[in-house]
Amino acid sequence: MLDSTLQETYDIVLRRNPGEPEFHQALREVFDSLEVLQDRHPEYKDQGIITRLCEPERQIIFRVPWVDDKGTVQVNRGFRVEYNSALGPYKGGLRFHKSVNLGIVKFLGFEQIFKNSLTGLPIGGGKGGSDFDPHGKSDAEVMRFCQSFMTELHRHIGEYTDVPAGDIGVGAREIGYLFGQFKRLTNRYEAGVLTGKGLDWGGSLVRKEATGYGATIFADEMLKARGESFDGKRVAVSGSGNVAIYAIEKVTQLGGLAVTASDSSGYVVDDKGIDLELLQQIKEVERGRISDYADRRDSATFVSGGSVWDVPVAVALPCATQNELDADAAKTLIGNGVLAVSEGANMPCTPDAVSLFREAGVSFGPGKAANAGGVATSALEMQQNASRDAWTFEYTEKRLTDIMVNIHRTCLETAEEYGRPGDYVVGANVAGFRKVADAMIAFGVI
Ligand code: NAP
Repeated sequence: MLDSTLQETYDIVLRRNPGEPEFHQALREVFDSLEVLQDRHPEYKDQGIITRLCEPERQIIFRVPWVDDKGTVQVNRGFRVEYNSALGPYKGGLRFHKSVNLGIVKFLGFEQIFKNSLTGLPIGGGKGGSDFDPHGKSDAEVMRFCQSFMTELHRHIGEYTDVPAGDIGVGAREIGYLFGQFKRLTNRYEAGVLTGKGLDWGGSLVRKEATGYGATIFADEMLKARGESFDGKRVAVSGSGNVAIYAIEKVTQLGGLAVTASDSSGYVVDDKGIDLELLQQIKEVERGRISDYADRRDSATFVSGGSVWDVPVAVALPCATQNELDADAAKTLIGNGVLAVSEGANMPCTPDAVSLFREAGVSFGPGKAANAGGVATSALEMQQNASRDAWTFEYTEKRLTDIMVNIHRTCLETAEEYGRPGDYVVGANVAGFRKVADAMIAFGVI
């Protein structure tokens, strides 16, 4: 139950944004944490901060026409939600997936505001994407789509305005096509306009690894806070994309045994530990399916459909997509003795699953804290672009690690300060919100 003021605001937002369940879910999760702030900060209410934060500063929806390999005209829908620029230029990825709609982009943009605030770096929140599905498309089709998408998007972005990056379905190939078209249309080599770039043309070392590494480092910090470590522990990872692959790599470096990976067709269990090289060959080079992994590895079994969370583990790293871990999965994980859950993906755990973890004393790292390493390293890429510099892997990874350790500490200290010790959800929401709110107050009503 929310208090009456928050409930009233929440009801208005639901009425103004019908049919957007993921957006409502993301708002509700933050609203639940804000009650602890109300008494200490009446100025937030007086200045209408929550009401203003619920409304994106700008929402852009556009047609993306392109021609497929058969010569047929296709039309997709493009989105960019420039959500909040209190702390810096809008910053957040582009998602290309058939499920993308305005509500999904708004949920991701809303989360991004607080995530970016938690990094301590000067970046606002935004998100974008399209219902274009890159699966099964040729490189030439992906290129034509990206060029058409950027033909509209370029009017709205810039290193001081809005800086997109990758997300589901947008990796190095897509960023290359998008940057190439931006450069062509503007006649400017503005490296800081996109992050996740190739290393030869303005990209940063560690950006590719950053989200997966960061979510695992966050899990490691949560384990340490309870006197544990990854050493010898079995770990379940979902997904087999950018975040999942590098989460698996970091788990292995920290002494854990990552035993699963998945995609939308099912999951593999490998009791000897996921062979990272084989997984990368199949997913990054061949763009194959996760079942191919089991076909080529004796110790692995492929399970079609089913839930990757049925596999007994001590740590769970959901790294695929929103709402992929529900209450039943949480009950199974708790029954199997899970100690920590760190969200590599955005909002992968349903609200019921999160409640069950918190009630059972499982350390739960919400995505806006746990997966902030990706956007933090994007901001480090922007720093390198601005100074026309390129940092070493070791230096950049050290910066990432420090940022993740700092986010973890901030969440714990804030939760303690507001009377909810050990509650990373409250810690992340309150700490992320306060900085944004204070900047908005400083700027006046705009
Ligand atoms: P990605 O490289 O495209 O990989 C996504 C993975 O998730 C794929 O294995 C995909 O399988 C799987 N997946 C997607 N939708 C699914 C569904 N409905 N059911 C089951 N599996 C599904 O994307 P990514 O960059 O790793 O992003 C994964 C998550 O992390 C997203 O929530 C994203 O918002 C979040 N995130 C990413 C970054 C980043 O830096 N990339 C930063 C912060 C947060 P299929 O190939 O079968 O679809």
